[in-house]
Amino acid sequence: LFDALADQAAVAIERIQLVADVEAARLAAEADRLRTALLSSISHDLKTPLAGILGAAGTLSDYAASLPDADRAELVSTIIEEAERLNRFIGNLLDMTRLESGATQPNSSLHFPGDIVGSALRRAGRLLARHRLDVALPADLPMLRVDAVLLEQVVFNLLDNAAKYAPPASTVAIEGWRDGGHVVLRLVDEGPGIPPDDLERVFDSFYRVRKTDHVPAGTGLGLAICRGFVEAMGGTITAANRTDRPGAIFTIRLPIPPQTDTLGEPT
Ligand code: ADP
Repeated sequence: LFDALADQAAVAIERIQLVADVEAARLAAEADRLRTALLSSISHDLKTPLAGILGAAGTLSDYAASLPDADRAELVSTIIEEAERLNRFIGNLLDMTRLESGATQPNSSLHFPGDIVGSALRRAGRLLARHRLDVALPADLPMLRVDAVLLEQVVFNLLDNAAKYAPPASTVAIEGWRDGGHVVLRLVDEGPGIPPDDLERVFDSFYRVRKTDHVPAGTGLGLAICRGFVEAMGGTITAANRTDRPGAIFTIRLPIPPQTDTLGEPT
């Protein structure tokens, strides 16, 4: 009996081994595929702005003397814009790497939500120059225990997306209010919105909704960073669509620390 059982066990182990080998090979192939997709996406995102910079700089260096002032100014602003895009992309990659390696630990202290939104708005000013801004943040929102750098980055990434995906002259609204033990910050735009099936997936790293001609290339990292940072601060972030007209809504909820509950009230 023992021998029979031992034989059966040996066969079972062999089968398990086989399944494990097949699964390991499948995972290795999947990891390989992901690595290749990641590398090609990253090199594309680095090469596109670089090509723009090199092209504009080349034209400037060859024809600077003969070009009208307006053309020169346009070439310079192309160089600046593309360099800024490169800078944002590299910044996003670094943020992501730090987040995934666990090196990003929130460095929390008390801040008024309005101050942080204000700095994000100043940073995004150039990007949103062609949009209408509608900011509705009551001055008496309670203070939050957050990492100001991380929260500013979250709001900046959302503003950056609104600037990219919502058409010029449309309104980008930022609202804030208190909801029980939380402060809610909400960004609402008048862009195309997000397909319902993608509302959760847009927060995955490198996930981008199907590209259309008029949508500028992005990295698919912005929202993944937003979710990582907000969750690191004990909050949540979700995406939805407007019901009254096309447009996306991003909602951040951050807990109000109990002992500071009343610090934000006007005295
Ligand atoms: P990126 O913008 O670099 O592609 P994100 O992670 O910031 O990466 O966004 C992921 C995807 O979510 C985008 O590719 C876009 O399709 C969609 N998205 C994000 N913000 C908006 C928005 N405000 N309106 C419409 N679609 C959006």
